[in-house]
Amino acid sequence: MPELPEVETTRRGLAPLAVGRRIEAMLVYDPRLRWSVPPSLPRRVAGRMIDALDRRSKYLLFRLADDTLLVHLGMTGSIRAFTNPPARRTHDHVDIVLDSGVTLRYHDPRRFGAMLWLPPPAAEHPLLARLGPEPFDAACDAAYLWRATRSRTAAIKLVLMDNHLIVGVGNIYANESLFRAGIRPTTPANRLSRTRLARLVDAVRATLTDAIAMGGSTLRDFVDSRGEPGYFQLDYFVYGRQGLPCRVCGSLIRQVRQGGRATSYCPRCQR
Ligand SMILES: [Zn+2]
Repeated sequence: MPELPEVETTRRGLAPLAVGRRIEAMLVYDPRLRWSVPPSLPRRVAGRMIDALDRRSKYLLFRLADDTLLVHLGMTGSIRAFTNPPARRTHDHVDIVLDSGVTLRYHDPRRFGAMLWLPPPAAEHPLLARLGPEPFDAACDAAYLWRATRSRTAAIKLVLMDNHLIVGVGNIYANESLFRAGIRPTTPANRLSRTRLARLVDAVRATLTDAIAMGGSTLRDFVDSRGEPGYFQLDYFVYGRQGLPCRVCGSLIRQVRQGGRATSYCPRCQR
């Protein structure tokens, strides 16, 4: 599933092609995404200039003056750019044709993605309004996390994955960040000191930065490539490594389930 680093990589790949360009046409071949693509969407975006391409959590936001075209990649979605678009394949659901001749093609086998029109103010749209801060925001620091977790008795891993607290920390990155911070994932959030939360913020940022850097190396495949999108495989410390020796201390990595998801941790490095 595309996580924040994949979405950010998509944004970085698309921005140089899209920003400053006008949308000539949007062709919807199958509107049945997570929410149906609004029938009026092609008419609304046609002729509009893309002023900026932003990301908020896992949403791509094409800024068209005061209006916004929101794109979510769902579980299996991807966007590729073509200078000379090949014949459509199964699961190619939407084409956005730019005045440069480049076509941005949305492909999504499971159709859990979304393509929606957000009139201003986009930030108050229900999908965006209640999101917590981005992990790289200056305001998302240890003091913020400390205040926001004082009444939270749930395990820190579950709290870390709560989009209302902080966005963009999915299962993989929650596992890895907690390892890097030396925090046991089952620790009640409100038991963590400000110092440990500071370590956790640093770990979240470092983990996401590493994954985004890895995504950078895939950008050359962005234009005119029909390959399936790669989801980044970091050299994980704990994720998916249950029963294997910890890369730091050699103890066997353990696995528990939290909120229906697998959590892996090192019993010695994470306290
Ligand atoms: Zn260890």
